[in-house]
Parts: sequence; C-alpha cells; structure tokens
Amino acid sequence: MRCPYCGHKEDKVVDSRATAEESAVRRRRECLKCGKRFTTYEYVEEVSLMVIKKDGSRQAFDRKKIISGIIKACEKRQISMEKIEEIVTQVERSLQKKPDREVPASRIGELVMERLKTMDDVAYVRFASVYRQFKDVGQFMSELKDILNKEKSAFGRGAVKKSR
Ligand SMILES: [Zn+2]
Repeated sequence: MRCPYCGHKEDKVVDSRATAEESAVRRRRECLKCGKRFTTYEYVEEVSLMVIKKDGSRQAFDRKKIISGIIKACEKRQISMEKIEEIVTQVERSLQKKPDREVPASRIGELVMERLKTMDDVAYVRFASVYRQFKDVGQFMSELKDILNKEKSAFGRGAVKKSR
C-alpha cells in the first residue's frame, strides 16, 4: 500500500482485525520510510452473475429462483433442504469461475441436472423435463425408461418385504 503521507510503497502491518460485522478486515500499517501509521480495509468483492435467457435478455443470477425450481422437482422425494442449498452453492461457485460471469440459463439447468442425477432419479427427470423442454426426446425417453424400470423393480422388492 502506498503511504498516504510520503508515497512510499513499503509498509508493515502492525495490527489486523475483523470489523464488528466481520464484513471487512481492518489493518493498521506503518510506513517503512516515514514511520507514520495508516489504516486499510479489505472487503470481499461482491460477485454478481448474469444469466442470459433464451431471448437474449439478461437477468441477475437468482439463487431463490433456482432453489424453488429444485424444490418443485424434489417434491415428495427424500432430498433435504440442505442438499438443495448445497447443489445451488456448487453450481454458483462453478459459474463464478467463468471470467465473463455471464451464463446461459440452459447451462445452469445442466449443472443442476448433473448433480440431481447422482442424488435422485425421479427429481432428476422432473427437473430435466422442465429445463430441456424435450429438446432431445430420444435421450430423455431412454433415461426415463431406465428409471421407470428401476422404480418397478424397487417396488417389487418392497412388495415382497411387506408380504413377509
Ligand atoms: Zn510514509
């Protein structure tokens, strides 16, 4: 940091502490040339993501919106709110690595789907049916068939258990 008194570029930090609300770090510095002290504040940069919609318009990334989409897909499934929050946090983080911080809405859908797929087949299909809008019907139907078969055999096993 350049010293505000003499313009020298070297200093040492003599004290460093978080501000009361912990949104910043306050540092007391001492200029190595003139010995005067000054204060700097370090803040986290607010990173905003822009979502590009199908019609080309842009909208700020809305965590709540994505969460409510996933909640709908997970209705009556065994996925905790914590898991859902985690999915969105992961997606948000991976998108923030993009240097331009702009992302097509469809890409968000894909990232959510990738994660849902590993957690719950039914929630995945429900979510996918909304996001993909049956663009690739072939793949979608074959995935649906696999899942339905799995459900059927799971139900079969359950029925056997119950009858015992
Ligand atoms: Zn100085």
